[in-house]
Amino acid sequence: MRRVGGFGGSTRVFCALAVLALAAGCRTAPRPGTLETRRGDEMMVAGQLVHTGTRVVLWLDPGGYDAYRVERRFSPIEESDWRDSSSGARGLHTPNRYGLRRDRLSPEEAERVRGGGWDLPLLQRVVDQFVLHFDVCGTSRQCFKVLQDARGLSVHFMLDLDGTVYQTLDLKERAWHATTSNTRSVGIEIANMGGYPSVGDSPLKDWYAKGSDGQTRITIPPQYGDGGLYTKGFVGHPARPEPVAGNIQGQDLVQYDFTPQQYQALIHLTAALCRVLPNIRCDYPKDAEGRLITHKLANDELKNYQGVLGHYHIQTDKTDPGPALQWDYVIDNARRLLNGGMSDAVNETSLGHMRGHKTVMNQ
Ligand SMILES: [Zn+2]
Repeated sequence: MRRVGGFGGSTRVFCALAVLALAAGCRTAPRPGTLETRRGDEMMVAGQLVHTGTRVVLWLDPGGYDAYRVERRFSPIEESDWRDSSSGARGLHTPNRYGLRRDRLSPEEAERVRGGGWDLPLLQRVVDQFVLHFDVCGTSRQCFKVLQDARGLSVHFMLDLDGTVYQTLDLKERAWHATTSNTRSVGIEIANMGGYPSVGDSPLKDWYAKGSDGQTRITIPPQYGDGGLYTKGFVGHPARPEPVAGNIQGQDLVQYDFTPQQYQALIHLTAALCRVLPNIRCDYPKDAEGRLITHKLANDELKNYQGVLGHYHIQTDKTDPGPALQWDYVIDNARRLLNGGMSDAVNETSLGHMRGHKTVMNQ
């Protein structure tokens, strides 16, 4: 606050302004104890709530998944604390499953943010990639169990079968999901059993079955209970009924597509991220002919790449998010949202295969 010197006219002006400011404040400030309302679509970005237009359950919310906690989430509660967890689970080596985005900070900046203290402009400078994964767990609850309780890893977002987004950490944190890109990226694990050489020799046959109506239905195997979905009784269907074949990282794979609800959520989240962290360009890695690159980027390409990408663009030992992901559908529609709203054309893709889900897509 600026000191006001002397007892002359400037003091009287200051007092008059102060009275005005106080009066204005009284008209707009909530009464102490008033509950702030949320819409339920907010993600947390350097301490600021940012709308996404799709349901987001924060780690702070009932039903959320909190990657800040050091204990295991799903072990018996008596054995869940860090001391028991570090001896009971081989994958857990440090209490925190995340770190500081330090490599892109000056020593002064690192000192400022090491205990908090991030602001949005600094995060906007540091983050320029959005990494898509499939979780090979099938549901977000199972994904968090593997990351938090078994492997000592983390990811900012999980996207469940019903389109619910879970945020487990503020985006200011360096989550552990994509090795060399952790410092500069935001990550999402999309619930999906992944890609395999064939359906028959894979877990896909336990999760997907075609009904007499020709629709392919997702069945969560009984060992996972009800799957923990936010939408009780939700029955998921892949956006395309047949497994999708494609070559990723030199491997011929088949994978079932993501659900229409997951696509809608991913489109909204991608648009929100590209707007609030604008060094993430709303695009995906393309070759000279404009086609999706389906293998790891060369090191200098990866270094220079700013935008949305897959885990397989970062590491040769990864194939996620697999051959099924419709990159053009996600990016084209995220761009439409960035340009001011969805048009009817959102239900059209280059292949036209999403049209059957029109009512779902418009929710
Ligand atoms: Zn991955």
